[in-house]
Order: sequence, then structure tokens, then C-alpha cells
Amino acid sequence: MAYDANSLESHWMPFSANRDFKKNPRMVVKSDGMYMWDYKGGQIIDGSSALFCTPAGHGRREIAEAVYKQMLENDYTPHFQLGHPGSFDLAERVCRLLPDDFNHVFFTNSGSESIETAIKVILAYQRARGEAQRNRLISRERAYHGVNMGGVSLAGMVRNRETFGLTLPNISLIRHTWQEDQRFSKGQPKTGAELAMDLERIAENLGGSTLAAVFIEPVAGSTGTLVPPVGYLEKVREICDKHGLILVFDEVITGFGRMGTPFATQKFNVKPDIITMAKALTNGAIPMGGVAVTDEIYDTITNSAPDNAIEFFHGYTYSAHPAACAAGIATQKIYQDEGLFENAAALEDYFLDAMWTLQDHPLVADIRGIGMMAGIEVHSDGAPGRRGGNMQKAMFWNGLHIKWTGDNAIVAPAFVAERHHIDEIVDKFRKTLDQAL
Ligand code: PLP
Repeated sequence: MAYDANSLESHWMPFSANRDFKKNPRMVVKSDGMYMWDYKGGQIIDGSSALFCTPAGHGRREIAEAVYKQMLENDYTPHFQLGHPGSFDLAERVCRLLPDDFNHVFFTNSGSESIETAIKVILAYQRARGEAQRNRLISRERAYHGVNMGGVSLAGMVRNRETFGLTLPNISLIRHTWQEDQRFSKGQPKTGAELAMDLERIAENLGGSTLAAVFIEPVAGSTGTLVPPVGYLEKVREICDKHGLILVFDEVITGFGRMGTPFATQKFNVKPDIITMAKALTNGAIPMGGVAVTDEIYDTITNSAPDNAIEFFHGYTYSAHPAACAAGIATQKIYQDEGLFENAAALEDYFLDAMWTLQDHPLVADIRGIGMMAGIEVHSDGAPGRRGGNMQKAMFWNGLHIKWTGDNAIVAPAFVAERHHIDEIVDKFRKTLDQAL
């Protein structure tokens, strides 16, 4: 399928080098299973599940048909004081994948909205339990929590904040967990658990009773797959309990099987109080996110309001849109019927071993990975991110889609992948590295 080369100016593309892209557009016109096709007919294997969104592969008819049917039946019901059955069905399915006391999901339209919603849930909860002075949030360096003002204020990626200057007050960052001695360690690094003590130091310096919550990506995704050291998440949980903080796991990437378990909470056996999600909730087919909370949080907020009153003054016009719910239900059925989380677990060793074959390449500076997610870092060419940006483009024309952030490639294939797909991803990755020598 062609496109109109004169039609490119109007769309201001997100997180993109607009001027550069428009000179030689990487225009995708079709996707199916593990592949996408560009407008010239080139076939591209999807090594990052698009943006970590499509564990069931592209072009799933079951999802398309469910959305189509829903749109004909009931295209849109707002959720403010009204409802439709799909949202309740989907919320129940999501809760079944979560630890026992997570029985409530608030729907949003993206990961960023999930983070903003979680911030508000936290502040409302602290107020409802008589602890309104707990208004400080903690996050980590090299975190990514989306692009809205709360998420940008929390996140530790400098380029996403320095342009804008203004951020929310009362936020402290603790260190990220990557250390030099972890280079090329597969799975959870053995060193670094003590970095959790940064949280204890903040509590000691500012007073534990002023702290509301800490936001953690169990595996920091967008900054290149930083895997938590053995014992780190347990230590964070312990410090949260000691000082009365809410622990948020931002599972926008790790949720829905990426770790070979339904969520990362099961992989690492550490239970947070709030879990944010998006992306694979609908296999990426329709925008949707969610915030799951424990009974304690839901009950405290809802019971603090008078009978018949709105309990939580927050929501989006498109929260739990019927089309998104239909996509979500169809997606969850696929995950279950095809045992895709189990597939991910079964592929993990093969996938990680394949990624580690790249460690001999002179351009490769580090490899990290766990579950169906690996970060491959290349040596900088002097300008941070330039080599990574060039790699992403070259890979595309070599028939491989990989999401890069700076000089870090984030490889995260769909769980419908077979071994030969993993091999193809690695071959094309190496070929592109070789061309850059
Ligand atoms: N949180 C995490 C951990 C993410 O990885 C992302 C996106 O990659 C977000 C939040 C933001 O999600 P969205 O781009 O859907 O707003």
C-alpha cells in the first residue's frame, strides 16, 4: 500500500525525529503474527512486540471481531454514573491474574494515565486514613512512568523533563540498581540489594510519616531492562512496611506475562499495594490502561465518603470504553486459551541464551535480561544515543523492528514466537551491528 509523500507534514509525531523521519519514512502498512510490512513490501520481524504491547502477535482476528461486534451493539457508554457489562467482566478477569487481595481495577486509556491515577489514589487514600501529611512520592533514577506531569515528575529520564522545567513538588529519587559489576549478568544480578537502603535514608532524613508511596518498575523497561538485584524488591517492601508507605509496581511493560508469570509480582514474589498496567491489556489493539488496588485501599477510600456520594473525584471520558473492554476481554481469552504466559516462561532460557550470543560483538557494551525481555547496550559513539538511533533505523531497513532508548535496545518478542523467530531477530541484530563497525 502506498502513501501520499506530500501528506506527511500535518502529523506532529510523538517521541520522533520528525524532520528526519519525513525524509525517508519508515511507514508500516500491514502487520500479522510476528511480522510487519513496510510500504515497499519489505518484511520486518517485530523484536519488541511493537512497544511491548502485542504478546499474542499482530492481527488477531478474535480481537478485531470482538471490537467490531461491540461497536455495532453499543459503541459508547460513558462511565460516569452509568455502566456497561464489559468493564465489569474485564476487571474481574484482570483481578484473577493478580494476588488475592487485589479485587479492584480503575480503567484508564494509557500507561501515563494509569500513573496519574495511581498518584491520586495514593493521595486520596492517605487523606482517607487520616494521614494527609503523607504527601511525598519517591521514585528512582532511570525510571520511566509515562509523560504526563505526574509521571514526568516521578521519572528519572532527564531528556523527558529538562525541556519542561516545571515538575510536581515533593518528589525524591533514589538510585537505580545498575552497577558496573553486573555487566553481562543474566537474570537477577547478585549485587545491589543494598541500594534499597536509599529509601530508608530518605525516611530518616525527611521523616517516614511524611512519605506517601514509592513507585518501582519491577524491571525498569524503557531505560534498557534493568533487572532488580536479588533481594532488592524484598528490601523495598520491608522498608515500605516499616514506614507505612504504599508500594506501587508500575507493570505497564512487565504485566501480562512478560516475565513468564501473569505479573512481575509473581515472578519476584513481592507484593505491592498498587499495580499499574496498560499495553498488553488489550494486546495493543485499542488504547487502555488500568490501576489495580488492594481491598484495603479501595475500602478505605470508598467507605470514607457519605452514602450515595461519589467517592473518588477522578475519571476519564473514555475510562473503560466499550471497544477497549471488548478488546481486553478477547485478549485475556487468547492469553488463557493459548497458554501464552506459559509459552513465555518456556521460551525464556532460549531467548536469553540467544541474546547473550551477541556479547562477543565489539559494539556491545552490556546485555541484561529476564523473562522475555532483554536490554542490549551499545558503546556510545561519542554523542549519547546517536548510535542507538542510527541502529534503530538501519535495523528497520534490514527487516527488524527493535525499540531503542538512547544506546539501549529493548528486545521483547511476542509470546507466540517460535525459536526460529528468535534466531531471525538475533541474526538481523548482529548483521546490523556488523554494518556499523
Ligand atoms: N510506565 C511504564 C513502566 C512504561 O513503560 C510506559 C510506557 O512505555 C508508561 C508508564 C507510559 O505508558 P503510555 O505510553 O501508554 O502512556
